[in-house]
Amino acid sequence: RPRLILVLGDQLDLQSAAFDGCDPKRDVVWMAEVAAESTKVWNVKARIAVFLASMRHFREALREKGWRVDYHEIGKHETLVEALSASVLSLKPSELIMVQAGEWGVQRDLESAAAELSVPLEVREDRHFLCTPAEFAKHAAGRKQLRMEFFYREMRQRTGVLMENDGPAGGQWNFDHDNRGTFGKEGPDLLRMPPKRFMPDKITREVIALVEERFAKHPGTLTDFDWPVTAAQSLEALEDFIVHRLADFGQYQDAMWMNEPWLYHSRLSAAMNLKMLDPRVVIAAAEKAWRSGKAPLAAVEGFIRQILGWREYVRGIYWLKMPDYVRLNEMQAHEKLPAFYWTGKTDMNCLSQAIGQTLRYGYAHHIQRLMVTGLFALLYGVDPYQVHEWYLAVYVDAVEWVELPNTLGMSQYGDGGLMASKPYVASGKYIQRMSNYCTGCKYDPAQSTGPKACPFTTLYWDYLLQHEPRLKKNQRMSMQLKNLTRLSAEQRGEIQEQARRVRERCGGEGWWRGVIPI
Ligand code: FAD
Ligand code: SF4
Repeated sequence: RPRLILVLGDQLDLQSAAFDGCDPKRDVVWMAEVAAESTKVWNVKARIAVFLASMRHFREALREKGWRVDYHEIGKHETLVEALSASVLSLKPSELIMVQAGEWGVQRDLESAAAELSVPLEVREDRHFLCTPAEFAKHAAGRKQLRMEFFYREMRQRTGVLMENDGPAGGQWNFDHDNRGTFGKEGPDLLRMPPKRFMPDKITREVIALVEERFAKHPGTLTDFDWPVTAAQSLEALEDFIVHRLADFGQYQDAMWMNEPWLYHSRLSAAMNLKMLDPRVVIAAAEKAWRSGKAPLAAVEGFIRQILGWREYVRGIYWLKMPDYVRLNEMQAHEKLPAFYWTGKTDMNCLSQAIGQTLRYGYAHHIQRLMVTGLFALLYGVDPYQVHEWYLAVYVDAVEWVELPNTLGMSQYGDGGLMASKPYVASGKYIQRMSNYCTGCKYDPAQSTGPKACPFTTLYWDYLLQHEPRLKKNQRMSMQLKNLTRLSAEQRGEIQEQARRVRERCGGEGWWRGVIPI
């Protein structure tokens, strides 16, 4: 009897541990497209298309290698468990083999399905990552506080990446102070090479047509679809980034600019999260660019920190803290997500830009996610679970192990300080400093009350007033809280009244579980 090798949509790696010791002559690879994965949160079309197109290309790559693929195209089964049950009944495998899923709930469902079907299931370590959940748990054990910086230094030492004579290359672990540039008044250099586009081939065009038809009411568009959907294209995308944008990545990694979705970012997250691209290859290419004088150390360290540091760290947190993590709500935030998160239709220019490009491409860069969409939801007091569902639905790179700690922890402070040592709160002035969004906006980031008051600035002060007693316990908030003392009782009342009006105006009725807001 064959063994059934389960390959999920984010496990598209021919070198995966799932294939170790397996034999194309005897064993069968199982893959399934199921509607539930696109509808359990209201996926944007680009995310569905990236997953389906990449899966179908991977099916072809497997067949070329001689594998028999038991592939369930969308429409046959509603859930993964249904599709798996059908295959087990027809193929009668002796055993199921898989690499650990990227979502706690999916892993649990497949394990219970295997038990119910009375087939042994072997779950293997995902060697795509450089740190296993067990190694992370060891790092975390006995520490009062977890901090990414210490984990990252350990990873540098363990892997030898950017190390020289047992110390960090350039004598510093961290070049963050060099990496906070803005584009000033001129904006980014428009002559730079735009990122390489990957025009849809026949397989991808079929997927696009399918998504347009089957998921017609889902948010977003596919007219600009150009994501890499194979391992070879992912390598080309990496090469393009290393040659054309890495050198400026560090300096401008936090900056934002109107109608410029990519700037100096790599666009490699989806390729890596679907396992089409090995993070070791990405890290090595960046390090080589520095060693051969093609990119400055600050940029290369800043980039490697994201992958060797943050990416591994959030995965460690996820497996350490699930399943309870997803329901944490430290600040007791219970507002509904404003409807405009699903349409981009708002007069706040920064949000309209960040959400607009998110729906169009399934992409926004880190600071847009953290300090525009995430910041507004935090200040507004949206329930972190709803914020989590939105982020899981709208980005092409969204897989729960990476999305959840970033959203619930880093951006919403829902875990009370595990991911971030303090809430990432700021007024509209931060957005004004880091972008040119405010120049095209009807609001004024310097004003917290009155008809031109920027809703971010109003809600920022309101947030500090609301949570002052709790935030006072956090040393790192003292500077921000000190400014509160300058507000008179009258000003406080005005801010609170203006914040109430902002909430009334934004409303949450368009929440996708209720009425579809378009
Ligand atoms: P670049 O800016 O070029 O960065 C290089 C790589 O570093 C990325 O491809 C990514 O693999 C890694 N990286 C950077 N920051 C992080 C981080 N904070 N955590 C983990 N990896 C990081 N990233 C995802 O991959 N999937 C998500 O679902 C996701 N959700 C997020 C939600 C919120 C609220 C926030 C604040 C961040 C989220 N991130 C997520 C992290 C980050 O925003 C994206 O990885 C990045 O924007 C992807 O674009 P890029 O490939 O151009 O990245
Ligand atoms: Fe955003 Fe406020 Fe700036 Fe408008 S003024 S773009 S709402 S930060």
